[in-house]
Amino acid sequence: MGIFDDYDLEDFLEDVKKGRARGKHPYYENGDYYCSVCGEPWDAYGVRVALKGGVGDMTREEAERFMKGLGCPCCPSRLHRRVETLGIVKENL
Ligand SMILES: [Zn+2]
Repeated sequence: MGIFDDYDLEDFLEDVKKGRARGKHPYYENGDYYCSVCGEPWDAYGVRVALKGGVGDMTREEAERFMKGLGCPCCPSRLHRRVETLGIVKENL
């Protein structure tokens, strides 16, 4: 089950693009999403393709974690654990 089953993906991406989701989800600017954990920029197109199950810059699972603000594949593993320790889990989103 994906995290977008009850939330339209395009609406969500538009929220992020307009900054309404800033602080919780990756920050969007000039075609890139900036990881909310480590700040690494990712090409927005590649992330969107991955979210839809295509061959993007990360796997779909990684893209879902990324868009939920749980970090990207570049984050040090300790940051991923830190985020999970804080209780930011998909059940809360
Ligand atoms: Zn990251």
